[in-house]
Amino acid sequence: MPHDGNESTKPPSDPALRVKALESLLVEKGLVDPETLDLLVDTYEHKIGPQNGARVVARAWLDQDFKSSIKIDCSSIIKQVFGFEGRQGEHIIAVENTSKTHNVVVCTLCSCYPWTVLGLPPVWYKSAPYRARIVEDPRSVLAEFGTDIPLDKNILVWDSTSELRYLVIPERPRGTEGWSEEQLITLITRNSMIGVELAKDPAS
Ligand code: FE
Repeated sequence: MPHDGNESTKPPSDPALRVKALESLLVEKGLVDPETLDLLVDTYEHKIGPQNGARVVARAWLDQDFKSSIKIDCSSIIKQVFGFEGRQGEHIIAVENTSKTHNVVVCTLCSCYPWTVLGLPPVWYKSAPYRARIVEDPRSVLAEFGTDIPLDKNILVWDSTSELRYLVIPERPRGTEGWSEEQLITLITRNSMIGVELAKDPAS
């Protein structure tokens, strides 16, 4: 495991301020067009986010063939079906939770993440403690997220890279028989597609 324990877990004193300063400098030097920057931020905040992944998962719950195909090659299928395209050209595959196996995703090296379907990674995903501990003791880390995985269920931890990224298909909750895709989407959270939580229980 590429962990030397030297990585700092402390954020810069005021990250927002530093980003702003850096942005001003880049714009000032003519290296970045502020309109392009705004468009990029807007795109990832409002257009590309977990709502894309939720649609993919809901479709997979409803369509067995679609589900089988995204477990082999998610990137090209979702481009064809929904027009979802990655900025970095990374390859995404879907991994399915079952009654026997629970999947969870990490990037132990840095913060590789399936932007196309989940948008920007949450801060904890990029933190050194998550990256180290989810590999060493996934069951405890999941419990800290409020996700208790039964002892007889296997936990698979998938390490993302810049070439290969993962989308978790959570188990479809009971009590959703006959639900439409739009209804199912409301149960699928970002965290359930990283694998640190389950899909929402329709009864709660
Ligand atoms: Fe990474």
